Amino acid sequence: MELKVCHLYPELLNLYGDTGNIAALRFIGGKMGFRVSVERMTLGDRRSFGGYDIIFIGGGQDSEQRLIAPEIKAFRGAELRAAVSDGVTVLGICGGYQLLGHYYETLGGEKLEFSGAVDFYSKAFPKRAVGTLRFKCLPESGGAEVTGFENHSGRTFLGEGISPLGTVVEGVGNNGCGGEGVRFLNAFGTYSHGPLLPNNPDFCRTVLMTALKRKGLH
Ligand code: GLN
Repeated sequence: MELKVCHLYPELLNLYGDTGNIAALRFIGGKMGFRVSVERMTLGDRRSFGGYDIIFIGGGQDSEQRLIAPEIKAFRGAELRAAVSDGVTVLGICGGYQLLGHYYETLGGEKLEFSGAVDFYSKAFPKRAVGTLRFKCLPESGGAEVTGFENHSGRTFLGEGISPLGTVVEGVGNNGCGGEGVRFLNAFGTYSHGPLLPNNPDFCRTVLMTALKRKGLH
């Protein structure tokens, strides 16, 4: 059995060692008895998203997000929308999380148009959210308590009826109002670096299980 992972923009969206999440998917997937293969999809790569089970997107600074926005608008955003609505498992971390929403507005008022794969938007605020981020996943996302750290100026505002990934125990999360991240179909977004999955194996298994279930393997 194999799970195919797309690591999107690894050369640009890899803040604070977020590539460690790929290592965790491989290691914990192996412990669960299946192989995890990984393809890197860099900026300018025109290959389509066909046949991936998991799409992983790490964190990035405004400048890196600005570099990516034109390609998202041109074609990759439509592919992300199709993948999410088709139930592909997606995990976005911070900047990679923001990229799943409609846009990210920088401090200078510049709107970076993103995929709109999930109904939310993000807007930068002068006071950065920096520090430990602990949250409890909602039951539909496994209920694990997750510990990581956050460092973002963006605040995320979820659309009507869109569920957060969890509730904040310590830190800011989406915007200081108690929700952290997003869960929509099999798309997961979170502000938690760490890297997230090596530090939180139960949540890593939740992500892997959503991909396995979609393949009828669990
Ligand atoms: N540039 C975005 C922000 O500041 C995302 C930062 C990140 O990925 N850590 O909100």
